[in-house]
Amino acid sequence: MNIIMFGPPAAGKGTQAKKLVAERGLIQLSTGDMLRAAKKSGSELGKKVAGIMDRGELVSDEIVIALIEEQLDMNPNAKGFIFDGFPRTVAQAEALDALMTKHNSKVDSVVRLCVDDEALVKRITKRFEEEGRKDDNPESFKVRLNAYNTQTAPLLPYYSAQGKLTEVDGMADIAAVSASIAQVLDKNGNGAEISASTPKKGFFARLFGG
Ligand code: AMP
Repeated sequence: MNIIMFGPPAAGKGTQAKKLVAERGLIQLSTGDMLRAAKKSGSELGKKVAGIMDRGELVSDEIVIALIEEQLDMNPNAKGFIFDGFPRTVAQAEALDALMTKHNSKVDSVVRLCVDDEALVKRITKRFEEEGRKDDNPESFKVRLNAYNTQTAPLLPYYSAQGKLTEVDGMADIAAVSASIAQVLDKNGNGAEISASTPKKGFFARLFGG
């Protein structure tokens, strides 16, 4: 089973993806983690993406698609993948579909974690204080949220048209969110499909006029 964890930054995608790795033996593919590792290693790729990531902008489709392609090629016998933070643009989603087809596979389920902008801001403020991730600072976070709303949210109709999209309340505690996701996956998407619209302007957008 191949799952996309979908949602804005700080929605809990990584946390939930890691739980699915432990519970279902799937492989987590987080382009954010891969890019952070490249940045830390000081590789050419890392140097190229560092400024872009720190500002909260999206790196090029070409780069992240290549990272995912490499991982799919390297794990031909995987039970399945959890895509975390990928795809983030329609071009990436189309490329993913093509790559999965090449591997005789497909995206089975897209789980959207729904979290209010106000809660996202609270989470990110706390994470910034605790972990000091550069792109969690308020200015970069504003850019990241804007990238989500303008470039990533348009994927919702893309996946909803394919009947693969399910919404989960991401405001609940971690265990409750996991339980909701398990329900969705065990139903294999049936009965919980929603027709998606782009998210409403929330607290953050109002605060920053985005
Ligand atoms: P994340 O940890 O998923 O929030 O990603 C951190 C940063 O890495 C993002 O703000 C982007 O700069 C970059 N990034 C991660 N995944 C992607 C992607 N699929 N497309 C473009 N940029 C990405």
